[in-house]
Amino acid sequence: MDWLYSIQGVQMPGNMDKATLQTSITKLPRVTEEHKQAFKRLGISNFKDLLYHTPQRYNDLQEVKNISEIESGQDVTLYGRLTKIELKKGFGSVPNSTRAVLSDHSGSVKLVWFHQPYIAKMYTEDSQIKISGKVTGVRVLSIVNPDISNTKNLPIDSGNSLFRKSDTASDEVEPSYLTPIYAETKGITSRYIYHSVQKLIESGMLDTIVDPIPETILKKYNLPSLKQALLYIHFPKTASHVEVAKKRLAFEEIFFIQLERAKDRLVLAHTPGFVVEKNVPRIDEFISRFPFDLTSSQNKCIDDIFIDLATGIPMSRLLEGDVGSGKTAVAAVIAHNVAITRPYLKAEQKRQEFGTLQVAYMAPTEILAKQIFENFCQYFKGSGLSLALITGSGCLKYPSKGRPGESTNISRPQLSKWVENGEIAVVIGTHALIQKNVMFKHLALCIIDEQHRFGVKQRKALVQKKGAAGDDVMPHLLSMTATPIPRTLALTIYGDLDLTLVDSMPLGRKNIITEIVTPLTRDSMYDNVRHELDAGRQAYVICARIDEPDESKERSLTAKSVVTEAARLQNSEFKKYRVGILHGKMRPIEKDKVMQDFYGGSIDILVATSVVEVGVSITNASVMILEGADRFGLSQLHQLRGRVVRGTHQPYCYVCSEGKSEKTKDRLKALVTAKNGFELAELDLMMRGSGGLTQGKQWGMSDTAMEAIKNIKLVEAARSEAQRIIRENKELTKYPTLKQALDSREKTHFE
Ligand code: ADP
Ligand code: MG
Repeated sequence: MDWLYSIQGVQMPGNMDKATLQTSITKLPRVTEEHKQAFKRLGISNFKDLLYHTPQRYNDLQEVKNISEIESGQDVTLYGRLTKIELKKGFGSVPNSTRAVLSDHSGSVKLVWFHQPYIAKMYTEDSQIKISGKVTGVRVLSIVNPDISNTKNLPIDSGNSLFRKSDTASDEVEPSYLTPIYAETKGITSRYIYHSVQKLIESGMLDTIVDPIPETILKKYNLPSLKQALLYIHFPKTASHVEVAKKRLAFEEIFFIQLERAKDRLVLAHTPGFVVEKNVPRIDEFISRFPFDLTSSQNKCIDDIFIDLATGIPMSRLLEGDVGSGKTAVAAVIAHNVAITRPYLKAEQKRQEFGTLQVAYMAPTEILAKQIFENFCQYFKGSGLSLALITGSGCLKYPSKGRPGESTNISRPQLSKWVENGEIAVVIGTHALIQKNVMFKHLALCIIDEQHRFGVKQRKALVQKKGAAGDDVMPHLLSMTATPIPRTLALTIYGDLDLTLVDSMPLGRKNIITEIVTPLTRDSMYDNVRHELDAGRQAYVICARIDEPDESKERSLTAKSVVTEAARLQNSEFKKYRVGILHGKMRPIEKDKVMQDFYGGSIDILVATSVVEVGVSITNASVMILEGADRFGLSQLHQLRGRVVRGTHQPYCYVCSEGKSEKTKDRLKALVTAKNGFELAELDLMMRGSGGLTQGKQWGMSDTAMEAIKNIKLVEAARSEAQRIIRENKELTKYPTLKQALDSREKTHFE
């Protein structure tokens, strides 16, 4: 049963009997097949979903536009005089229509209404009207089926000063100037959604809602009730109504996420994990074999992690560090120390005399897993420990019996046996690691690299791999990511993880020379790139799309595609060089082959989508061209360009953008000036809101909540309230509505 479940049914007008929030959206009066499909696409399946489908934005009727200023694609409200109006008879499949021209002091625009012949009767030439609708067309602009009303008594043509509060009759109820604009899809207009919501609310549906958030909390933070918030969000009278409503809905969402996290943590605190103590001499020896000294930041992370590992409670830590900050080396030090430790549980008070602990290291792609395996083989040389690689295309074991310095191919069943009896200390792999037939003896530590690339389910599946001998022992979890996210977001989505930052770069790293490229400087960019290629370097060209555009999406018409851009470059700028392509629609084997070719140097220029984002390191690639940069978030661009800082060569990054607006330029300039990825992530959040954080949807958060994470106070309040409630009453027996709500959330999240 859902928490918004109504107690008594609600009488809906028309053909509906008892309706509840759970009632299918297909029960809306006069809903067509097309509507049903469209609702499905919008993710709206019942009335509750519809009420929670909050407007994307609001048209402020106080901001009346001059006709000369309108642009295709905008939702506008215009005041003016009809300079022409006529009824046009349909022909064949073309329906009857009313056609008109609206003019103000600045210009005119065409209006068209289909199936509304009465409009031609109600209005005449010279009628003073207000219309609102969406502008369409390329050269000739028109507005199809606009809302229309008479404004005989209102002043016209006075531009933006029109319709201020003082202009309206004082004895009337304050009118709403804000028209909600909802996300649309083919078959459903914003206006249809608006009227559907209106029907629901008029039927009294809001009265059946039981507010899941305890009243004391609402009072404490001055938040409106759920009912009030939903009213405000769909029918605001003022901008502050919208603000208050959004705050409440965002609080609710973040509060629930935090409740879940707090519960998870509590469970963890009562689960045993292996005790791992720092073995200083062995660590020092291990580190001395690295071809570099650890940075102070890497050392600090290692210390942090050892504090966790010694507690006997499973660690849950996120290591967040810019691309190239050296997280793999940190992971290696920890993995090594775990692998030389004999199993020890606090409750048992005694160390086992045989066997050592094991580590599982999961990476999102085969090529990355292989690279980590190769790195580890070097680091673990002479340690006496065995390593293995498990991917979909085969398994490797290190060291090989015959050739101790090398790794060797091995069958999966044989490898599985060795993992299960504890002979292999560290198993590296792709999600092939999660499969049931991979079993450990004493799995003590799971490392998840590029953790944002894995879903919650995959992460949980790895941690739930218990050792055959360890029974109910939970492995420690070390997650790593190079995706810098703002602190508030981290608190929200990783509320169950402790956070450690690797906040400095290894010494001697060359700064990427980043340049914003304009059409005028494009040629000189290609000159520079050829110069680098001739010096033996390699280059990436990143495009926003794979193929030629889908014509229906006008916005993407200017974005370059991998396929055509690669062909163009091969035939013009880079005739003498070998151009390869890489994108997400290619099969994994094809992708790996291309990456291998690039790695091996038989491809000079790799034209790719953002699939190259993941932590692969090709040290000879020192140039990156980012095409259509305005389409990416800043932190994503930053991650992409991080591909070229791996080597000793001076890296270059060229940022190409077609966007002409000052705002776009300013945003991209931050790439030149910002010191690190964290700064860029915060900037993204401030400048683009949820849009800048490309993975918002993946984290399962609504736009409203993503917007709200700008507000650290709100996030912290939601977090501390959730933690307090779980601390005081972890079964939530004192909060039945809350418990019900939480249970139903969990059900939908993990189905
Ligand atoms: P990331 O944090 O992005 O995963 P990696 O672990 O792949 O970064 O490290 C990037 C490169 O930096 C690797 O080639 C690694 O050998 C090197 N590296 C790591 N730590 C140091 C250090 N302390 N000094 C110099 N180079 C280092
Ligand atoms: Mg990495």
